[in-house]
Amino acid sequence: MADDIPFDRNFDAEPGRAERVAPKVRRVLANNPSPFTFKGTCTYIIGEGAVTILDPGPDDPAHINSVLDAVRGETVEHILVSHTHRDHSPAARAVSARTGAKVLAEGPHRSARPLHAGDANRTEAGADLEFKPDRRLADAEVIEGRGYALETIATPGHTANHLAFALKGSDLLFSGDHVMAWATSVVAPPDGSMSDYMASLRKLRARSERLYLPGHGGPVRDAPAFVDRYIEHRAAREAAILRVLSRGETDIPSLVRAIYIGLDPRLSGAAGLSVLAHLEDLVARGAVMTEGQPSVGGRYRLSATPAAARR
Ligand SMILES: [Zn+2]
Repeated sequence: MADDIPFDRNFDAEPGRAERVAPKVRRVLANNPSPFTFKGTCTYIIGEGAVTILDPGPDDPAHINSVLDAVRGETVEHILVSHTHRDHSPAARAVSARTGAKVLAEGPHRSARPLHAGDANRTEAGADLEFKPDRRLADAEVIEGRGYALETIATPGHTANHLAFALKGSDLLFSGDHVMAWATSVVAPPDGSMSDYMASLRKLRARSERLYLPGHGGPVRDAPAFVDRYIEHRAAREAAILRVLSRGETDIPSLVRAIYIGLDPRLSGAAGLSVLAHLEDLVARGAVMTEGQPSVGGRYRLSATPAAARR
């Protein structure tokens, strides 16, 4: 389906090895590959001598040791977490215990909306429900380090607490799981919200940074144009859903079969949740109707006033 996005899946980083990816930025790849994490989680080390560790990664002693080895002899000033999925945040606790650095993040894990009956297990690597930051970060905060500074950019959508970080005075932004070069972001209720996600894409689109370093895979180059493709891709997905619904009332499994051709069966549950995310947004905008709250098991039809489908 996503042939409309110029994905870049070239990524041959070696797990556990610190690699320089930009001035003042090193990357350590965790060895947790999966259909959701690609080759694994990217942990970033920002600064020289005095550093910030962004997304310490999964609770994997080998990865934690690799990250600590990479910063041996340096001062860890801050530990930042982009969001509370178990492939990003759990190692924060061990890295904090062994370096004394405080953990900064938007907040504990929370759903994008109240849970509804029928909300299935959490997707992706799952939520890190034990995560608690030492300090909560708001939008547009500046985190000062020695020789660098990072600006927070609240980017809810993939999760309600997702943050991106811009490296001040550079052309570089850490995009977490919000924008990635290798695939689209998973936006799956109840963690994810399509309305928030689209607003967060537009928020990044309005910025000037051209290079994104994401939570998985290699860099996003020419980022503003890439974000445009991401936005268009979601608009096309929405149009496809509306097209199927224009033929009559249907359910999510039928929508997935009609829209996702040649889907990896391991991803069909995630595809269903992605369709649910679009349907929640369409119901909120009055374009689509369902009985009660939008749910995975619900049936959906176009509302009587299709003009509402336009934003
Ligand atoms: Zn995630």
